[in-house]
Amino acid sequence: MAIRSLLGAFRKRSFVTRAVSCYRSLSTLILAEHERGVLKASSLSAVEAAKCLGENNSISLLLAGTGPSLQEAAAHAASCHPSISQVLLAESDKFAYPLAEAWAKLVHVVQQKGSYSHIIAGSGSFGKNILPRAAAILDVSPITDVTEINGSNLFVRPIYAGNALSTVRYTGSAPCMLTIRSTSFPLGATPAPSVSNAASVDKVDLSTLSEDDAIGKSKYISLSSQDTDRPDLGNARIVVTGGRALKSAENFKLIEKLAEKLGAAVGATRAAVDAGFVPNELQVGQTGKIVAPELYMAFGVSGAIQHIAGMRDSKVIVAVNKDADAPIFQVADYGLVGDLFEIIPELLEKLPEKK
Ligand SMILES: Cc1cc2nc3c(=O)[nH]c(=O)nc-3n(C[C@H](O)[C@H](O)[C@H](O)COP(=O)(O)OP(=O)(O)OC[C@H]3O[C@@H](n4cnc5c(N)ncnc54)[C@H](O)[C@@H]3O)c2cc1C
Repeated sequence: MAIRSLLGAFRKRSFVTRAVSCYRSLSTLILAEHERGVLKASSLSAVEAAKCLGENNSISLLLAGTGPSLQEAAAHAASCHPSISQVLLAESDKFAYPLAEAWAKLVHVVQQKGSYSHIIAGSGSFGKNILPRAAAILDVSPITDVTEINGSNLFVRPIYAGNALSTVRYTGSAPCMLTIRSTSFPLGATPAPSVSNAASVDKVDLSTLSEDDAIGKSKYISLSSQDTDRPDLGNARIVVTGGRALKSAENFKLIEKLAEKLGAAVGATRAAVDAGFVPNELQVGQTGKIVAPELYMAFGVSGAIQHIAGMRDSKVIVAVNKDADAPIFQVADYGLVGDLFEIIPELLEKLPEKK
């Protein structure tokens, strides 16, 4: 019995030693997203998160795609953040669209060569789609939706729809794979590197991928997205959200008009999305987008916990609801009990025209 417990203690000790020793030198691979030749803000937040893992962390960015926009994104990535030391470029038709199967195989190939201690992606649909699949191939357990990093293996993540925070210590083998909540790692006022100290751009050797049949098992069909000049919901400074109370897609235009005047992004509750007032990409909440703007305005939103989970970190919350007992007032900094069909037209009238 004594021998068994001694052996158990030794086993535990060697396990911990393995976990610690693999972080002796930190190196992080970021799975980066790009659009129209520019790195997305969520990928830059992942760089900010990587900086929290520890000092002397060598940060590489993995970009994939085809054509000139990939080259432009690579040039942007190499020169947009001084902490990025290398940009890895995977150029192939297989990555024309961000399909999880192809990307997960790519991550496997890149990890085999680079032996990174950490792999990070943003917690958007891109990261949530790819990272778990890549983690399964690499046989490690990913830690998702991280909001705080306290060293190379200690992470905080919300649980129970954001009602509690859980601190997780990663004791597995490398790589430690994370998705991070972009709003928790805002971009600091980082000086852009000069052209002379831009990161190197290196091509990934894709020869082993070309024989892989599994990659072709899913097919890209189409992308439906709203073509709008409004700011991106995930990064907007102001968000104006409408709930079920708007009653129809036609009435929801009131929210859109107000957002237009304020230069804000439009958000919606799941009830408004399910009722078909607006597309799913505008949903804020546990199963939608997580936002943390400077100003969040909620009109006809009850404040269900699943909605609050997506906007509770907003700096200032304004709520308009005709029910004085609506739960949204518990998180609002400013609350107005009233009918949105009277209040929004009044606001539209009083706000100055957008220049
Ligand atoms: C697993 C799961 C995940 C979910 N994920 C999400 C999520 O990501 N995001 C999300 O939003 N929901 C989510 N939900 C749904 C959530 O529980 C609520 O049902 C939803 O948020 C309610 O939307 P609502 O506030 O628009 O509608 P309601 O709850 O119907 O509230 C409408 C509010 O409008 C007020 N109102 C009515 N008329 C007016 C008026 N004229 N002027 C002013 N106020 C008025 C009412 O007093 C009421 O408070 C999820 C649910 C589940 C079970």
